[in-house]
Amino acid sequence: MSGRLADLSGPCISEAVGADSIILLPVGAIEQHGPHLPMSVDAVIADEVASALLDKVGNEVDLWLLPTLSVSKSNEHAWSPGTMWLSSDTMLRVLDDISACVATTSARRLVFLNAHGGNSSLLSVACRDIRVKHDLLTFLVHPSLPPASGGMSTEEELGMGIHGGLNETSVFAHLRPGEVNMDLAVRRVPEWMAENASVRFGGPVQFGWTSRDFGPDGHIGDPTGANPDLGRELFESAVAQLTEQLREIARFEFRS
Ligand SMILES: [Zn+2]
Repeated sequence: MSGRLADLSGPCISEAVGADSIILLPVGAIEQHGPHLPMSVDAVIADEVASALLDKVGNEVDLWLLPTLSVSKSNEHAWSPGTMWLSSDTMLRVLDDISACVATTSARRLVFLNAHGGNSSLLSVACRDIRVKHDLLTFLVHPSLPPASGGMSTEEELGMGIHGGLNETSVFAHLRPGEVNMDLAVRRVPEWMAENASVRFGGPVQFGWTSRDFGPDGHIGDPTGANPDLGRELFESAVAQLTEQLREIARFEFRS
């Protein structure tokens, strides 16, 4: 079987999906990523990472993919025409509805694989709400942890390559080599913020922002050195880490 839930017939679900199955929802975004990248970056990354996990560890952990949720909470890019986004209220409701559907199967584990940093806080809230309301075991994993959630970006980007920067552009160049326009890649690192000890990406003070707050281009980071080899390395290491995380998720149970 394919490991994609939507490929099963209705009657097959009860045979194929059991109490030990993991249901995984890839969560991407359709949002501006600066002039050098298409809007589909996060959706493509979520999709490709999920497919790679299915190939690598699908049978071992009884993994079932849901279709990628491509439109999510991207209102930090709402200023850019064509960015598609759900409000936080709508997104929580969508996640709640999807979880209610998952809860009709025998599966007890639901994993959000999130490729868009703007979703992270909301998905943490959803994990708890769904745990309470639908009695599922819920988990949030990332191909790369956003700096605001403790992840790192490169030193050259002063730890603030958070959107369309070196790493993300490289990963996309590996996955879709024909779709990056390096002629339009320019450095857009908010150097002024690096002077702050607290109010900065990765600092202890959270702040509300839109990508337009940092200039007209819309990306935040330095994609100029991006290349597919680095992208392949990052992609493969993300898949390897997520493989271990899924193995642990597969055996995770609360003990009281
Ligand atoms: Zn992105």
